Amino acid sequence: MNGEDFEKKRRELIKRLIREGILRDKKVIKAMLAVPREEFVPANYRSFAYNDTPLPIGYGQTISAPHMVAIMTQALNPDPGDKVLEVGTGSGYQAAILAEIVGDSGHVWTIERVKELVEFARSNLGRLSYLRRVTVIHGDGSLGYSPAAPYDKIMITAATPEVPEPLLEQLKVGGRLVAPVGDRYLQRLVIITKESDGKIRREYSIPCVFVPLVGRYGFKYDEF
Ligand code: SAM
Repeated sequence: MNGEDFEKKRRELIKRLIREGILRDKKVIKAMLAVPREEFVPANYRSFAYNDTPLPIGYGQTISAPHMVAIMTQALNPDPGDKVLEVGTGSGYQAAILAEIVGDSGHVWTIERVKELVEFARSNLGRLSYLRRVTVIHGDGSLGYSPAAPYDKIMITAATPEVPEPLLEQLKVGGRLVAPVGDRYLQRLVIITKESDGKIRREYSIPCVFVPLVGRYGFKYDEF
């Protein structure tokens, strides 16, 4: 399949997500039109890149479905110039979407615990020249990344039993955090706002299913 076909499939998928009422925000539509998802999936899954499903990326992990990327990015509502932290880099696709939106005046830090996926994401992001706006870190993202804190926005793309305390601390006052919170099998998307007095406001959105956040403030290995 050639590049032209991928571009057509990308436009068709995005049109469908708009028609279904899932994709509404212009910034997110523009970013999803710009980022080639086929560059973030293993070669044997490239022809499925524009199916609206998660796909395996190895090591028991997945790239999230496009509708979930749309929903989470819209819930996070990143702005140009924002400093964003993503926990769970995976393929690097979500980081690229965020990088498109924050632009050259913003930056995305993204943390991944599986070393091989750090390399996979770096090579995908590097090939498409996103590494000037994205820093990929190897580590336990449940601890956040304090050297670049505080962040305007934080997105967790793995299931967590609770929002890790260090991430709440590393969020700016007025900042937003989006995370799938729940047990190992089912979560609910939670949108957190840190208000001016430092108070945490929570909104509960749709049910969802993510691979687990495994770490100090996530799930423990022996829970599986
Ligand atoms: N955002 C990714 C993308 O665009 O491809 C998909 C994320 S995938 C659903 C969840 C990722 O979180 C996996 O790659 C997994 O290895 C990673 N992960 C799990 N626990 C983690 C932790 N404590 N710190 C950082 N990454 C973690």
